[in-house]
This record gives sequence, structure tokens and C-alpha cells, in this order.
Amino acid sequence: MADSPQPQIFNHTLTCYESSGQWMPLLENCSWKRAGEMFRDKKIALIPVGATEQHGPHLPLGTDFFTAKALAEAAAGKTGAICTPVIPIGVSAHHKQFWGTLWVSPETFRHYMYEISISLGSHGVRRIIFVNGHGGNLASLQEISRTLRLEKLNSLIFQWWTNPSSIELQRQLFKSKGSHAGATETSMVLAIRPELVESGRYEEAAKGASAEFGIAKFGTQLPVDTLDFSQSGASLDPREATVEAGNQLFHAAEENLVNLIRWFEKAGENELGPRPHKE
Ligand SMILES: [Zn+2]
Repeated sequence: MADSPQPQIFNHTLTCYESSGQWMPLLENCSWKRAGEMFRDKKIALIPVGATEQHGPHLPLGTDFFTAKALAEAAAGKTGAICTPVIPIGVSAHHKQFWGTLWVSPETFRHYMYEISISLGSHGVRRIIFVNGHGGNLASLQEISRTLRLEKLNSLIFQWWTNPSSIELQRQLFKSKGSHAGATETSMVLAIRPELVESGRYEEAAKGASAEFGIAKFGTQLPVDTLDFSQSGASLDPREATVEAGNQLFHAAEENLVNLIRWFEKAGENELGPRPHKE
């Protein structure tokens, strides 16, 4: 029998300065002297951002920031883009009835993320990618991106689960499409932090799960909490999750992010900034 697949993500040592002399551009590990060398060399930065919120009875509260941090750090290692510390709390009030969920208001989140971006800009960064692990943060990040663009600081939002190639891979891997704590997200956590996944609770998760994330009437989403449609906190079924699927999903997302960083770094200001008035 073949050996069971092992998580492959965290084999590398995430240090600022490796013995090989190769820089790992993780801001939190650098002195200000080493940070200065990075900022003089690179004008692009990644900000991993997630949430501390319930992910069913089987996944850790840190799921969304673990995935964002792992992807951002892996892509930074391959491209040299500067990676900031992860922002672990986001817009999650809709999970509030589940123990341990933490949140800030969209207003607070927008101000905080905007000011972090401006502080990166003060060190010469001109391009930022928010590596977002939590869908609830998206609307706020989109608002910030538009504001930053007017200030000549261009930013993008990368989400690992919405890229077309990731969607296609999810379709091939699973019958169940669960968007929150379902097979896809559970597989990702199996690849990143397998010791935190409680597979003995998959049945409990699936039993109380919803068929979709949210409640829609005539195509309109209602402003409800997760508890209004899911008793376990999960959406669809985690039972198909595997380490192997998680490794595939992770590497597909990593490749997408690396490609995005390479394009964004080279894109001209005329491609990114607002156009002048028409004649
Ligand atoms: Zn999540």
C-alpha cells in the first residue's frame, strides 16, 4: 500500500536570512537594517489577512488567516515580494453566536488596512496585494483598493478559492462544493495545519451543515447570520477532504499568486492608475 500523502507546505524554514544567503522577505523576521535592504530593492508587498472565526466543529478558528499567511509567505519566497505579518481578525460579526469568533466592524477594518497600506507606502512600496483568506473582508478591501488607487498606491485582492483554475480544480476534486468549512477549505487546512483538523467531527459538521452559504430569496441575499442557516457552522460537507487535495489546491493557488505578483510588478503605471480626462 502506498504511503499516505504528507502535507508538503511547511517544509521550508521561514527565516529572514537563510544559511544559503538567500533572503526570505518576511518583514517580521527582519531587523530594520535588513528591512531597509528589502525596501530599497522591492516596491511590491503582500499583506496576508484573514479572520478568527468559527469553521464548523472540525476546523480551527484561525483557518482563514492560516491559509492567507501560508500562501503569502510561499509566494514571497518565490518572488521576493515583501510579506508583512498576517492580519488575523477581520469582518466576521455574522458568525458571532459561535464561541470564540472575533470581529471588528467594516469601518474599523477599512481604516486599519488603509493605514497599514499607507505605512508601507512610506517605505517606498508602490504596489500591494492583499492576500485575503476570508470572503467577509472582500467588500472592505475593494473599497480600500479604490481609495489607494486615487493616492497612486496600487493594490489588488487575491483570494485562493475564486481564481478560475482553482474553481475548476475544486470541481474535479469534490462532488460537494462547500464554501465555508466544506471539503475545499478542510483540505487546505489538512495541507497547512493537519494537527488542528478534527476529522472525528466531520459527521457532526455535515449533519448540521447548510447546502449553501446564506439565504437567498428571488436571487437576493438576506442579511442573516450563519446560525440562521447552519447549525454546525459549516456549509456543505467536509467528508471528502484529503491532504492530497489540499496540497493540489495550495500549489494551484500559489502558482496563481506568483503569476499575479510577476505581472503586477511589471505592469506600467498607465495600466494601473486612473486615466486623465477625455479630450
Ligand atoms: Zn474560511
